[in-house]
Amino acid sequence: MQRQVVSFHYVLRDEAGEVVDASSKENPITFLEGSGMIIDGLEKALHDMAVGEQRKVSLEPEDAYGAYDERQVQEVDRSVLPVDEVKVGDMFQAGQDRHSPIVRVIEVTEEKVKLDANHPMAGKRLFFDVEVVEKRDATEEEIAHGHVHGPGGHQH
Ligand code: ZN
Repeated sequence: MQRQVVSFHYVLRDEAGEVVDASSKENPITFLEGSGMIIDGLEKALHDMAVGEQRKVSLEPEDAYGAYDERQVQEVDRSVLPVDEVKVGDMFQAGQDRHSPIVRVIEVTEEKVKLDANHPMAGKRLFFDVEVVEKRDATEEEIAHGHVHGPGGHQH
């Protein structure tokens, strides 16, 4: 199947209806299908839409950032963290490698810190309003590189 380059606008709301994230008016999000840049459930919905079409897309956690996994939460001694001051909401890279997971501080006691390696949106249902702005066939070069070239993509 011919892979497409898709540009779209979106507004993302959580279950309470609060806006979590949105594309800017001037700059739609542009992605190459199958490159893993956007979550699968959203990519599937956009694939079936025509240019100019607007749709509401709600995704269960498993189609978005996955279920919340209690095993991704661990308690460590405060002393293992690279800083003196720690508060709830702080984020750390769990290792030296730049691909190491990001962990979030979710609880702080005098000696212990609870770290959560789940994605912040894990376990959450997502509610998107999307509008497809443009679609075109991906070029062979884009497919080989695994990313979009030109506006909204790599400039090289
Ligand atoms: Zn390239």
